[in-house]
Amino acid sequence: MTTPSSTSSEPTAVDASEALNASTALPSILELSRDRLTATLIELGEKKFRADQVWRSIYYEAVASFDDMSTLSKPFRKSLSEQYSISSLEQVMFVTSADKSTSKALYKLRDGELIETVLMRYESDGHRRNRKTACISTQAGCALGCTFCATGQQGFRRNLTVGEIVAQVIEMQRIAYAEDEVQMEQGKRTKGELQGVTNVVFMGMGEPLANYRNVVTAIRVLNDNQGLNIGARHITLSTVGLIPQILQLAEEELQINLAISLHAPDNATRSQTMPINQRYPVEDLIRACHKYADATGRRIFFEYVLLKEQNDSMEQAQKLGRLLNGLHCHVNLIPVNPTKLGPFDRTDMGAAKDFQGGLKQYGIPSTVRMEKGIDINAGCGQLRERAIDILGA
Ligand code: SAH
Ligand code: SF4
Repeated sequence: MTTPSSTSSEPTAVDASEALNASTALPSILELSRDRLTATLIELGEKKFRADQVWRSIYYEAVASFDDMSTLSKPFRKSLSEQYSISSLEQVMFVTSADKSTSKALYKLRDGELIETVLMRYESDGHRRNRKTACISTQAGCALGCTFCATGQQGFRRNLTVGEIVAQVIEMQRIAYAEDEVQMEQGKRTKGELQGVTNVVFMGMGEPLANYRNVVTAIRVLNDNQGLNIGARHITLSTVGLIPQILQLAEEELQINLAISLHAPDNATRSQTMPINQRYPVEDLIRACHKYADATGRRIFFEYVLLKEQNDSMEQAQKLGRLLNGLHCHVNLIPVNPTKLGPFDRTDMGAAKDFQGGLKQYGIPSTVRMEKGIDINAGCGQLRERAIDILGA
């Protein structure tokens, strides 16, 4: 388990260089904080406003190469491209679900590690406008070993750097922009109106709060209004429930949404599928959630993966209702996406609705969320699992 360290906005060189195959690849410019980028360009003899232009090209325009930075002189573009790369992700698989709502990319990092990123497209439903959500990874693998999770079944590899985390959103932004442009050509979108990625969820591979400093720094980069400009309220961080980091996050003054992977209403049931529960038991976790909600004024989201005949009875629904009583929260009920090694089947829709009824008896609002992209193994860690089968990677 990684303990939280300082929340400096400067990613350390060590983090970035660990991920870099130094013999061949140029360092990614995404590893430079805005301040560092400015200082570096000034050292190269450029004016400060050049750094703003480069920042905008990378994070707002999401350009794929220095050549596309049209506001810069050719010699300056050339000089940048001799010293840096933009992204350090190499796409090795890209699949889209039959209904086109979900795409999933598998990326190879410089040291050969594989991570997954998902883009989910939601049509407007009358209440909410249409949106595109990027689901991103924060670690290669995960140390926490939840038994229903494909990433947990693969074990921990390493933390992602700030640049590797943000690069995933930039990749999804390029796809989303290209789709916006097609819609403009078809007259379905006003000319010049690029929407891009509207939401980001930290629900891909890994435990975000075990990579605390890089994740918080990445959130601030996503927030930057001269860059990707993803509002904090459109960002959701999902955690297995690392209490010290939850309390630290409460002090960051970020208006992001916090989602807790609860998945059981009591210690006996939770410990069967989530080893972390032995370290941070349910009552302590809920106490930390109260503190977080009080400090931030934000409601907490609970994720509850429904595992057939494990945690989906009416009695367990009522127990969960009592546990969450008095907390400003919302529960997302998610029938499990079965994994290769996982012993669990999905709860059917009828039983999920009954569970929802049990929560309602205690005034706890909930939604049953069918996972998107089942046909493309969109569940956390599942594409990597499949790629290893196919590619022998
Ligand atoms: N480590 C973090 C975030 C990544 S997992 C966490 O655990 O919260 C994102 C969400 O996917 C978590 O709620 C996790 O419990 C859930 N999940 C993992 N495996 C799943 C599966 N096979 N089916 C459905 N949800 C799953
Ligand atoms: Fe890790 Fe989250 Fe998977 Fe648990 S559910 S093993 S914490 S990624």
